Amino acid sequence: MSETFTSPQFDQATRDAVSNDDVTVIIGLEVHVQLDTESKLFCGCSTEFGAPPNTQTCAVCTGMPGSLPVINERALQLSIKTGLALNCEIARYTKWDRKNYFYPDLPKGYQISQFDKPICGQGYLDITAPKGEFEPRRVELERAHLEEDAGKSMHDESQRGGNSKIDLNRTGTPLLEIVTKPDMRSPAEARAFLTELKLILTYIGVSDCNMQHGNLRCDGNVNLHIKVGGEKIATPIVEIKNMNSFRAAERALGYEAGRQLKLWKQNGKTIADAPKQTRGWNDADQVTTPQREKEESADYRYFPDPDLIAVTIEESEIESIKKEIGRLPAQWRELLIKEHGLKPYDAGVMVGQGAEVVEYFLVVAQGCGNSKMASNWVGQEVLRFLNESGEAIDAYPVSADQMTELLTKVNAGELDQTRAKEVLQEMIDSKIEVQAAMDKLGIKAVDNSEIESLCRQLIDENPDVIQQIKDGNGKAVGALIGKSRKLNPNANPGLVKDTILKMIGA
Ligand code: ZN
Ligand code: MN
Repeated sequence: MSETFTSPQFDQATRDAVSNDDVTVIIGLEVHVQLDTESKLFCGCSTEFGAPPNTQTCAVCTGMPGSLPVINERALQLSIKTGLALNCEIARYTKWDRKNYFYPDLPKGYQISQFDKPICGQGYLDITAPKGEFEPRRVELERAHLEEDAGKSMHDESQRGGNSKIDLNRTGTPLLEIVTKPDMRSPAEARAFLTELKLILTYIGVSDCNMQHGNLRCDGNVNLHIKVGGEKIATPIVEIKNMNSFRAAERALGYEAGRQLKLWKQNGKTIADAPKQTRGWNDADQVTTPQREKEESADYRYFPDPDLIAVTIEESEIESIKKEIGRLPAQWRELLIKEHGLKPYDAGVMVGQGAEVVEYFLVVAQGCGNSKMASNWVGQEVLRFLNESGEAIDAYPVSADQMTELLTKVNAGELDQTRAKEVLQEMIDSKIEVQAAMDKLGIKAVDNSEIESLCRQLIDENPDVIQQIKDGNGKAVGALIGKSRKLNPNANPGLVKDTILKMIGA
């Protein structure tokens, strides 16, 4: 932080007078993303999730003396790809450092990481709030570096004093640690950042970001800047670990901001009086609780790893990776808004569902020639199905081509919305195509003479409704549409309405 803070003492009455308007929440995030490689960062062991404990290990990732690490080139490529998507400077020269600490899940006694020459330098990510919870903001990124993951301790939770065990399958799995500047000003912004980051990473295919599998983990640094007595003070920085969902992150940061304000009002301690503290988020009790005091980087005694050579990255390699990136979520949203007429909120929902949903939409929109209709159907019918079933779009029973065929019929006036939805439901229930579903429901085209005689009948049988329409009550025609449906469910209501109005000269 460039700002320096003094540590003036304020009396209790002055501290108590501080209101929320005087307080700015300062949030920075550190996100560990597991890169989608088949093998680990420095050995050939599989990274597949869910194997029996300690079946995916070797001399290298368990830190046996004499074993030597070999860099996984794919991990480097995925890191560069991520850096480019996050507007980072890509290092032409990057190297490896040992981060020394002692913990049972770290068999070598050090983690291979990157200290002073990270693969990705400064970058940024823009966040917006579709519902206006905050002003659009650019969150700057400090760096993103590659490192290996640690193993997993498995403690006996039976309370019967069993031994703790260790699973080293995860040891050596490639992680990209993305570090932001303290640029977020509310828990909602932090959540929006995490959501957009995850979306970008999945769109460019560098990670599945599966949080249940630990493939995306986030820690948050939070403190408060408080305007008081004409000065600005900062509260001690707290790092929150173990925020295991974006919702948990938002709540943990909000809780912590509130806790810090309360604590400062009690004891008046500022950043100058207290070291950085690490706290964990307890999801069950919805509170943060103290953990160890945070190590400073000096405590890790970083030094260059003598077993690994530095990496130089060629301009040509960066250029070729750049070509693989494709459209990013923000660019997709812009395209959907500008070229397909979607409202910003709807474009956000669609893009938020992932690249496959956007592709599905594009096929349907282009095929039926009506983006608005396609966005309504994909945005409502398809997404509702996916939300209710918890399935991905590739499990949706109706292909984009079949959806196109259905909407083409709606667009051409052969089916009205209500009947089309019945057809869609039949297609899903019976796993059949459009025409077969229409046949099954007895839907067939109604020619103009049939429509005319139907309308004649409706006019003759409902003189009072016709009088109401003639008297200027246009809505009264709705009663006739209902009757029309009963007489001939295949007759297009829009066409029936237009024909009636024309026949009575209204
Ligand atoms: Zn290994
Ligand atoms: Mn790390």
